[in-house]
Amino acid sequence: MASIDTEAIVLRTIRFSEADVVLAFYSPDQGRFSAIAKGARKSGSKLGGRLQPGVWIHVGVARGRGDLGTVRSASTIQAHAGLWQEGYRLRAAGSVLETVLRSVPEHEAMPEIFYLLARTLGLLAVAVPLPGPPRLDPVVLGFQAKILVVSGLLPRLASCASCGSPGPLVAFSAHAGGMLCDSCASAGEPLDGAARNAFAGLVGHPLADAREVCPPGARVGVERMIGLVLKEHLGVTLRSAMPL
Ligand SMILES: [Zn+2]
Repeated sequence: MASIDTEAIVLRTIRFSEADVVLAFYSPDQGRFSAIAKGARKSGSKLGGRLQPGVWIHVGVARGRGDLGTVRSASTIQAHAGLWQEGYRLRAAGSVLETVLRSVPEHEAMPEIFYLLARTLGLLAVAVPLPGPPRLDPVVLGFQAKILVVSGLLPRLASCASCGSPGPLVAFSAHAGGMLCDSCASAGEPLDGAARNAFAGLVGHPLADAREVCPPGARVGVERMIGLVLKEHLGVTLRSAMPL
């Protein structure tokens, strides 16, 4: 019986039966994987309290012949307790965890995604709530923009994706591959320069600077760019995002 002994962040917990929970994890050396925690829902379970979405743990998983392993042990590395002190933070973290669940393939280890996720949850756990929906927090949008970079899906931002012209760039098309100039704009939808600049800023700056580089007026446009790219290339629409 193979076993896994790794750091991981809990992405999701699903009640599986009266006592058991199925968990999705992201780990630096296993990527995204699932396992069952037997008895985790029983009161007094040693596992239960540690297996919450957003918690960074050290986990031991025994793997049988099937794909789904069984959680044998879990110890907390970073609880990100601040997430539970503010509904805003928890909802922002929910958007981040959903992004990993829906847009990152299973069993592909990408350590940069793990450390990006840990950094993002750490920032959100102490974040001061902003006006507006948590899904538009620049830390959430910055995380999603960086996921596109790691996944090789970064759209072209500095010149027209269709003809190469330096601009002015006035529209966006995920299908064409990025921003579009005036002459090519009919292939996309109008998008203002503020959203483009904010997107480029989120890609190019550390997450700690996300709120500075992504002003309030640009956030809906950035979310839309990210949503269109995820839909075009992965066929994914995030439930926590505005419908496209
Ligand atoms: Zn063009």
